[in-house]
Amino acid sequence: MQFRFLRFVALFVGVLFIYRPVLVYSQGNVEAALASIDSVLIRTHLATLSDDRMEGRAPGTRGEQLAVAYIAEEMKKAGLKPAGENGTFFQAVPLRAASPRPRGPLAFRRSGETLLELAYMNDFIAGTDLESERVSTTGELVFVGFGIDAPDYNWNDFEGVDVSGKILVSFVNDPPATPEEPGLFQGDTLTYYGRWTYKYEEARRKGARGVLLIHTDETAGYPFSVLQNSMGYRQIQLVDVPEGALEFTGWMTRDAAQRLAEQLGSNVEEWYQEASRRGFRARPLGVEMAFDVDYVNERFDGINVLGKIEGRVRPEEGIVYSAHHDHLGVGLPDSTGDRIYNGALDNASGVAMMLAVAKAFGAASAPERTVIFASVTAEESGLLGAEYYVRKPVTPAEKTIANINLDSGNIFGTAKDIIGNGAERSEIMTYLQEAAAAEGMTVTPNTNPGGFYRSDQLAFARAGIPAVYINTGRSFLNQPDDYFSKAAGAYGRFYHQQGDEFDPTWPMSGLVQQARVAFRMGYQIANTDHILQWNPGEAFGAVR
Ligand SMILES: [Zn+2]
Repeated sequence: MQFRFLRFVALFVGVLFIYRPVLVYSQGNVEAALASIDSVLIRTHLATLSDDRMEGRAPGTRGEQLAVAYIAEEMKKAGLKPAGENGTFFQAVPLRAASPRPRGPLAFRRSGETLLELAYMNDFIAGTDLESERVSTTGELVFVGFGIDAPDYNWNDFEGVDVSGKILVSFVNDPPATPEEPGLFQGDTLTYYGRWTYKYEEARRKGARGVLLIHTDETAGYPFSVLQNSMGYRQIQLVDVPEGALEFTGWMTRDAAQRLAEQLGSNVEEWYQEASRRGFRARPLGVEMAFDVDYVNERFDGINVLGKIEGRVRPEEGIVYSAHHDHLGVGLPDSTGDRIYNGALDNASGVAMMLAVAKAFGAASAPERTVIFASVTAEESGLLGAEYYVRKPVTPAEKTIANINLDSGNIFGTAKDIIGNGAERSEIMTYLQEAAAAEGMTVTPNTNPGGFYRSDQLAFARAGIPAVYINTGRSFLNQPDDYFSKAAGAYGRFYHQQGDEFDPTWPMSGLVQQARVAFRMGYQIANTDHILQWNPGEAFGAVR
C-alpha cells in the first residue's frame, strides 16, 4: 500500500513536470458557463427521464424513443450541433436480443445418471452468443478455477489442458493476493482478468463450447438478483456474432454450485481454495451438462444521442462526455406491484448532469478541441452503445483525447470530496485535481478500482482513450463520517430494482458539484494541445 502510494506520488510529480496548466480562457467566461449549471434544470432532466412515462428506457423500446427525443431536444437547446447519422443527433446501434424459453432444467449427468437438475432463474440463468431459435448444449464440464490466462502474472489456468468443445465452470473475480505475492492480480483491486466478460472472451479464444460461471456475492460484488434482472429474461448483444461464439453462457448461484460440488464429494469453498492456489490447472469434473432451450430472437436498434461543439483550433481532436440513458425497462411486478425499472440514479442522474455540462459548454467560448456529448444506449446489456460508438466515433479513437463518464451521480447532498474512478490510471488525474480544487473539493483516492470495469468508460479505455468515471466522494458537508456509507448503503437495495425512482426530496447540490467539476476538467482538456497519456505500465495504454 505504502509502496504503491509513493509510486503514485512520484508519478504525479512527474506528470506536473510534463503538464503545466495554462489558462487559455477568460475566467469570466467560465464563470458564466458554470453559472448555467443549475439545480432546477438538473432536477427537471432527472425527473423527466425517470418518469414512469419513459417506461424504464430499455433499448429499442418506446420508452427509449421518448428519452432520446428529449435528450436530443435538450442538446439542441444547449447549442450543440448534431453529431449522429445524416445530420441528426441519433446514431442507430444495431442490436439483437434473445429471450430464453428453457425446454427443461439444466441437467448434470455422470455415466448416463442424472446427478442434479437446476431450475431456470432460481438456480441459474443462461444465454448464448448464437442467434439461433434453439440451442441444445451437451458437453463435458471442466473446472477452470478463475479461467485466467495472464502472461503478465505468469498465471495460466488452462496450461496443458485442451478445453475446446468443453463447458467451463469458472469463478468470477481473480485469485486473491498471498503473503508471498501481495501484488498478485493487484491485491484487492479487481483486474480486467476478474471481469465476467473476460471469462467469456478467454473461453472463446480457447475454443470452449460454453461457460457456466459460479456466482457468489463476494466474488461478483452484487447479488444474483442483479443477474436475473439484467440477463435472465432477455439478453441484448450487438448484432455481430463474436469469433469463437459460445453456445452457452450461464451463471449459477453459489447454492447450485454447492449442490454440484457436494455430488462430487467437495464444496464451493474447497473449489475456491483450489482455484486460488498458484499452479492450479483446469481439470475435468467427470460430469456432462445438458441444457435445451428455445430462444425468441429479435433485432432492433438502440439509439445513441450524439451532439458536439466543434473545436475552434483542433476540430479533428475530441473529448467525449458519456452517460448512458438506457435502463432495464419493464419487468415483472415487485411486491408493491411496480413493474417499471425507472433507473433514476442509474442513470437518469448521469444524463441530467451531462446535459447540464453541455449547456455550460454552449455558454462558454468555443473550445480548441471538439467536445462530444454521447448519451449511449444498452450500457446495462454490457456497455454496447459505448462499444458501438467507439467503433463509429465522431473523432477517431486515436484522436480522442479523453472520456469523462457520468453514471449514477451524487444524490446524497453536498460533498467535500470527489472520486475519479480510473483517473489514477492516466494524466486525467491532474485535470481532476485542478477542477476539484477550483470547486473547493478534494480528490479522494479511488476506493473501488473494479468499478472502472462496470460502466461505459471501459469501452473508451479499451480503445486506448484515457477515461474517468466520476464517482461520489465519501465526506459530506455537515454530516457524520458514516453518512455516505449509510445513505448509499440504504439506496443500494434499489440497485437495478423497480425502487430506483426519483424522490423529490433529493438534494441536487451533489449533482451540481459533479457537473461543475466535469465541466471544468473537460474545458481544460479541450483547451490544451497536450495529448493525455496513460500511466506507464497501464494495460490500456498499450492500445494507444
Ligand atoms: Zn446499471
